[in-house]
Amino acid sequence: MSKNKKPKIAFFDFTCCEGCQLTVIDTLQTHPELLDVVEIVEFREAMTETNGRYDVAFIEGSCTRASDEARLQDIRNRAGVVIALGACAHLGGVNAIRNRQELEQVRAYVYGEHKEWFDTYEPRAIEKVIPVDGVIPGCPIDSLEFLRVVKGLLQGRLLAPPTYPVCMECKLNGTICLYQRGEVCLGPVTRAGCRAVCPGYGSSCIGCRGLIPRANIAAMRQVLAEHGVDEAEIDSRFTLFLTNELDELTQEAARV
Ligand code: SF4
Ligand code: SF4
Ligand code: SF4
Repeated sequence: MSKNKKPKIAFFDFTCCEGCQLTVIDTLQTHPELLDVVEIVEFREAMTETNGRYDVAFIEGSCTRASDEARLQDIRNRAGVVIALGACAHLGGVNAIRNRQELEQVRAYVYGEHKEWFDTYEPRAIEKVIPVDGVIPGCPIDSLEFLRVVKGLLQGRLLAPPTYPVCMECKLNGTICLYQRGEVCLGPVTRAGCRAVCPGYGSSCIGCRGLIPRANIAAMRQVLAEHGVDEAEIDSRFTLFLTNELDELTQEAARV
């Protein structure tokens, strides 16, 4: 990053709901002091100006069509650091649910007789297209984690998200486990960093931050089954955010 100058940061969106960018705007409203130390030079959701170069590019959304690849590469070429912002960019997100079905079926369902008008393919994480330096997981991102990552960048550090599961944060919060209340939860296999917000409000973790390293999927499925969740529902819970990661695990297992 340039010395003695505020680092230039930019935000870009691909296929997504733009909720993570909204979280950034919300964070800037609650922490306006951030604008004293960074210069936002491009952010379609919040401003009209654009800029050709930036120190840090935050990219939201998944890559869902061939034309996205050139745009992603162009952003990569102009940025010093690229950070994937949110589950769509990090994992393919909810967009990847459709990878469970034939693409042509999905296109026909969504676009009907005009399906040929719309360029699309299987949604992917942006790291499958360009090198990515860091990630802020979640759907949407956690505003405090966004602040931590930006502060780290200002100090020349790239902060990685935790590798331990959501259950750790649940315990630290003193939250009663949903399993003890007769409910189920994907917290044991999901990457922490969200402060276990969903169990804290009585809702199951649905895996939006992606899998922890070496997640034991078979054991998690067994626990869900033992708690009365049928196969279809287990698949449904696992594929809301984790379709691409589970496919990669299956491919890795096939290679061993
Ligand atoms: S990760 Fe969630 S909140 Fe963020 S853009 Fe994707 S769908 Fe929206
Ligand atoms: S509620 Fe979920 S995240 Fe919290 S301890 Fe239980 S299984 Fe883990
Ligand atoms: S508890 Fe699970 S679903 Fe909820 S924000 Fe955290 S990782 Fe995402």
